[in-house]
Amino acid sequence: MEINTDIIKSMITKIKKITQFFLLGFCLLYTFSVSANTQTTHLSSKLQNIESVYKSDSKQALTLAKELFAKHPKNAKVITWLGRLYPIFSEFELGYEYANKALTLNISAYDKTYMYLTLADYYQYKQNTQQQFEYLEQTIEYAKKTEDPNLIVEMLSMYSNILADNNRIDQAMKFMGQSYELIDSVSSPDALSTMYNALCNIYLKTGHIDGAIEAMLKSIDYVVQSGNTQQLSVAYYNLAEIYISSNDYEKAINAYKNSDRYSRESGDIIGIAYAYMGMGRGYLQAKDFKQALTVLLDAKQRFISENIVASLIQIYGDLASTQLHLKMYDDAQASLSELALLEPQKTEKSFETYIQSINTKANLLFALNRFEEAYKTQQSYIEQLKLYQQKQLDASTESAFEKLKNSIYAKDNQLLLLENQLKKIELDKHKKQRNLFVLTTLLSVFVAVFVTFILSRNIKLQKQLDKLATTDYLTGLYNRRKIMAILSQRFTQFKSNEQALYICMFDLDLFKKINDLYGHVMGDRVLKLIADCAIKHFGPEQPIGRYGGEEFLIILNSASYKAAHTSLEQFRAAVEGIQVDGLFEPVTISLGLSEASINDDYQTDIIQRADTALYEAKKSGRNRLCGN
Ligand code: GH3
Ligand code: MG
Ligand code: MG
Repeated sequence: MEINTDIIKSMITKIKKITQFFLLGFCLLYTFSVSANTQTTHLSSKLQNIESVYKSDSKQALTLAKELFAKHPKNAKVITWLGRLYPIFSEFELGYEYANKALTLNISAYDKTYMYLTLADYYQYKQNTQQQFEYLEQTIEYAKKTEDPNLIVEMLSMYSNILADNNRIDQAMKFMGQSYELIDSVSSPDALSTMYNALCNIYLKTGHIDGAIEAMLKSIDYVVQSGNTQQLSVAYYNLAEIYISSNDYEKAINAYKNSDRYSRESGDIIGIAYAYMGMGRGYLQAKDFKQALTVLLDAKQRFISENIVASLIQIYGDLASTQLHLKMYDDAQASLSELALLEPQKTEKSFETYIQSINTKANLLFALNRFEEAYKTQQSYIEQLKLYQQKQLDASTESAFEKLKNSIYAKDNQLLLLENQLKKIELDKHKKQRNLFVLTTLLSVFVAVFVTFILSRNIKLQKQLDKLATTDYLTGLYNRRKIMAILSQRFTQFKSNEQALYICMFDLDLFKKINDLYGHVMGDRVLKLIADCAIKHFGPEQPIGRYGGEEFLIILNSASYKAAHTSLEQFRAAVEGIQVDGLFEPVTISLGLSEASINDDYQTDIIQRADTALYEAKKSGRNRLCGN
């Protein structure tokens, strides 16, 4: 018995110990799992934070992402955010590093799209256009994989924009066309703003300033909706640049001010510098030299601390010109010396400013009565300008032509001025005048040929652009926007003259079945065949549009209800008679006819009745026409 109790006692203690051990273990495990859990929820809520602020406050998003990265250096999503956010702040090298890292990890097609975009940005910064374009192709490919029309359109437009930047207008328009095809399913203001941005660029490159301004204003409307302040500052900057190019300095300055404001809101220091630089140019062109001086000095300080050389070249150039106008000759001289130091680093972008600065220098020497040096400098200016123009001509855009034209006028004036002054120092005038004449004549002939070339090209481009914007890609019919615009016009006419107006909505019968049984390619073919049949039957006088996926709207010009009915009935029978290779049953449509009534307030009232009639046709057995 005693032994037994001992055994039992010892067993009990053992059990107690074991239980304690397990309890302890369990407790430890529990605490661990809870803390791990709170850590993951912590992480995902922080990631959510970044998602929700990156548009309105990219700077904060970047700070958050950096904090997260310190704690979770291996998290794919955190790395992706860094890859996406750094380029916004012109940190292209860092963006490149993180994007490449993210691409080795398991990330979604959506994230991959943005990572390739970052790589493309990086190569743009490195001025390697070929690599940039290769990565942009990837961007499109992955965007398409997401099947998100918003993302696809955003990327297509982004690409189109860059193509336009590189003067590849035809390609840019091709991508724009692909965007237009998806437009009806696009809801994201980001995508729409990017699209209008690209459109604006195409307009610019083809010399349609008014169209460009209108498109940019629309783009800005959408950016406002999306609440992306950083993008808003860029959009206003671009708008300002357009105003500058159309010599509307007051509007330009206002737009730069807006750009400055939104750069401040988004914490984009470099954005502020650019806005000031732009304002400086605006004031300079508007001959408000005092204001120009203030903002340019501010911009200079900002660019020096960021060491952005290309912009510093422009700043020093404009500063010198401003100081010259304010008769601050020593300061102007100093600015020109600073610029001369940067000259070896001039880029394609800052080249024009650089050339203009030679002109400023000539003017400065002229103001200082150093005529001989002024003349020499001016000659070197002309030489450089000629080389530059040659390059511009190769770019074959109208904007190049505009610049060329302006600079020729400017040069003419400059030269005449100098010629007069040179009388005083008794140089051989006759010889130079003859040279000037030859030069001007040659350039004028060149310009004339160039203008003819550009104008004929532009008319073609404009036509292509208009067609893209109004045509449905698959069927070649009008798209929804266009047919609604036509209907709106006809409705207004009807309201004023009360001449009868008939419309018809028709819809394919059991079309889903064709897609399901024969595939979408066959479905598309059927749509195209029916569209062709409609065009043949109704002719160019009766507009037809693709209203929805497999739903169409015809605006008839029949004189009576009976005539409209007969024509539609013939069309219905024609469709039924279409032979489709590989399809074993006839394709049929149901149609709804309606007539505009003087009691209608809106064009949609007529559509509403046609829709009801169409529904009636479907309900009563399909392959028929109903009307009311
Ligand atoms: P109902 O007679 O009642 O109209 O039947 P339905 O099958 O035609 O109607 P439903 O609206 O259910 O299906 C329409 C289908 O049309 C669904 C969609 O996949 C297809 N569709 C819409 N646009 C296109 C297109 O551009 N190409 C192809 N292939 N199919 C399309
Ligand atoms: Mg339908
Ligand atoms: Mg249908």
